[in-house]
Amino acid sequence: MPEPASATTTEAGAESPESPATYAPGERTVPTRSANRAAYDHDTVHSILDAGYVCHLGFVRDGAPVVLPTLYGRVGNRLYLHGSTGSRPLRMAGEKDPGLAVCVTVTHVDGLVLARSAFHHSINYRSVVVHGTAHQVTDPEEKTAALDALVDHVVPGRAADSRPGNTKELAATAVIRLDLTEVSAKIRTGGPNDDPEDLSLPHWSGVVPVTPTYGAPIPSDDLAPGIAAPAYLQNL
Ligand SMILES: Cc1cc2nc3c(=O)[nH]c(=O)nc-3n(C[C@H](O)[C@H](O)[C@H](O)COP(=O)(O)OP(=O)(O)OC[C@H]3O[C@@H](n4cnc5c(N)ncnc54)[C@H](O)[C@@H]3O)c2cc1C
Repeated sequence: MPEPASATTTEAGAESPESPATYAPGERTVPTRSANRAAYDHDTVHSILDAGYVCHLGFVRDGAPVVLPTLYGRVGNRLYLHGSTGSRPLRMAGEKDPGLAVCVTVTHVDGLVLARSAFHHSINYRSVVVHGTAHQVTDPEEKTAALDALVDHVVPGRAADSRPGNTKELAATAVIRLDLTEVSAKIRTGGPNDDPEDLSLPHWSGVVPVTPTYGAPIPSDDLAPGIAAPAYLQNL
């Protein structure tokens, strides 16, 4: 199946200002159900991607599907995933000339939706699904930028505040790139959709909001004296 052309991907994965800021919905990216909850504009897709740092990487290994949780970073219209050069999907992306066919998902749970009926229970969420072909990054500059993006995705500002990878560490780390072309976001908001005949039932209904929280930073036991937790940790 031909991949729909990205509205904006450039050679460097940067956004081109003259192109519309949306991904083109394609055969693989329109949900069968609740398609009204789908979105393709860059603002929505990128904000969901940027709000997270754990994705699920799906690919086919020896004829069977595998899904692995892993970190990611975004630079423009590209996702970067990294791992040991021994990691199987990263190796597969480098071995096969056309790359590795993957599906990457990112999910945020925003609320538990409790309906009167068991049937109408639901979840408020924001999610992104990316279909495409992952390729190993071999250009040293792109690899370094991708690794910085991965670190900054988890803790913004951290890449500049840590020792850069040395030659040995970079050689032991594989990075794969996935262009954002076949991309969809899906969002559910709001309360339960109970049937009218259930509204008078004696069961509580509504939404329990879910928000991620960070605890106070715990210094390493062997941290040299006088190093305070950096300001960017206060703003996580
Ligand atoms: C936390 C969470 C919990 C969910 N729980 C359920 C559940 O219990 N039961 C259930 O039926 N559904 C659940 N969903 C929704 C689910 O992800 C699918 O959207 C839904 O199953 C409809 O699938 P479909 O047949 O339309 O998908 P398909 O028609 O197979 O999807 C076609 C394409 O639409 C896009 N797409 C579909 N779903 C999503 C998505 N969530 N985000 C971004 N793009 C998407 C993808 O590009 C996909 O390839 C949940 C979603 C989230 C985030």
